[in-house]
Amino acid sequence: MIRKVGILGGGQLGKMIAESVYKLGGCVNIYDPDINAPARHLAARFFNREWTDTAALSEFFAASDVVTYEFENVESEGIARLQHEKPIFPSVSVLQTTQHRLQEKRFLQENALPHAAFAEITCANDLQKYVSEFGYPCILKSSRGGYDGKGQLFIRNDSDLQAASTWIEKAGAAFHCVLEEALDLDMEASCIVARATDGEEVVFPVFENTHKNHILDLTVVPAGISEAGAREMKSIAVRAAELLGLKGLLTTEFFLSRSASRKSQATIVDGWHIYINEFAPRPHNSGHVTRNACTLSQFDALARILMQVPIGQPKILAPGAFCMGQLLGDVWLSQNAAGVDLDLAAWQAHPAVIDVVIYGKHEPRAGRKMGHFVTWSDTANDAVERALAFRQALSQPVTIGKNAAPAPT
Ligand code: ADP
Ligand code: MG
Repeated sequence: MIRKVGILGGGQLGKMIAESVYKLGGCVNIYDPDINAPARHLAARFFNREWTDTAALSEFFAASDVVTYEFENVESEGIARLQHEKPIFPSVSVLQTTQHRLQEKRFLQENALPHAAFAEITCANDLQKYVSEFGYPCILKSSRGGYDGKGQLFIRNDSDLQAASTWIEKAGAAFHCVLEEALDLDMEASCIVARATDGEEVVFPVFENTHKNHILDLTVVPAGISEAGAREMKSIAVRAAELLGLKGLLTTEFFLSRSASRKSQATIVDGWHIYINEFAPRPHNSGHVTRNACTLSQFDALARILMQVPIGQPKILAPGAFCMGQLLGDVWLSQNAAGVDLDLAAWQAHPAVIDVVIYGKHEPRAGRKMGHFVTWSDTANDAVERALAFRQALSQPVTIGKNAAPAPT
């Protein structure tokens, strides 16, 4: 059996992959330039080195039986050099397709997978041309390095277009973006597929996702879409994974709209217009809910693939609905918590909350993902309401020393 798993990146995703590896009797090496990376405590060996340190990367590969990564913005050149030393799952070629927006869109186009109309933009002239072709609104997205809506510009009118053109001219020759038709979204969803080296293939239930300020805020399972719609999304996600030649985990993010778009070709089921937004070749935020809602989690699935253990089909564990709520640094800041501790006393009054996970990040910052929690209830609406109520209760100022014994009078 494969025992030593190397994980590039030691954030919360790396940490939860590590937990699943240890469950199966394995151990992990973690590579992360951040000395405070949350997964460092779980590392048999912690490589606290820069991504550009080729000697340290070689040593990391030599010390591991198999390698994976927790985020797709990892520099693929550095690890492409090492891909023949040890297996990397998902492969460098899957990573390269999914980490570059234009290549990802071309993959969708070439394989007739439904997606928003797009164009490559390298200069202000391209932008003028395609904005007039697509019409307002459009979104300009950088080809590399974006996450949580970073590196994106919404173009709604002539003055936004002017601002975007100025941005392009300032950026000069290095500028490389993709322009997309902005769709009229009624829902966002995701579907995780896992494929093993022996061909075993499993697909998780479809999750419904809500974003706030472009950051995933809530995930609900099951998604509020017909069975036929969910089945179609699963089959699209499986087809994409097969076409990519995936070994490992792939998350497909979907856009859903009730209305037809101006320029984009959708798959239509029960009145839902379904498009692929993008892929993530790794565990996904929305998949946190699988740790509570399913017979196996996305992290277990990846650990089993890496360690060559059978995966088995994930099933939802209970009727009703589960809701995952993200906890950003903002909650810490509104508690006035000095440091990393979150006061969880409010949990007592919220029995629908079945789990709270705190990532152990060093410093709470606004917009920084610091933890998440999961509620369970009979209906999706109730699970969401209870999640919002819990987060609201957590986001209250905490009086320092409130639980301390009263001072002697
Ligand atoms: P990131 O890599 O930051 O996750 P995404 O491409 O997924 O980037 O965009 C972030 C969010 O912005 C999406 O989840 C969606 O809410 C919104 N968005 C992105 N592209 C479009 C689009 N073409 N039409 C409508 N909304 C979009
Ligand atoms: Mg996204």
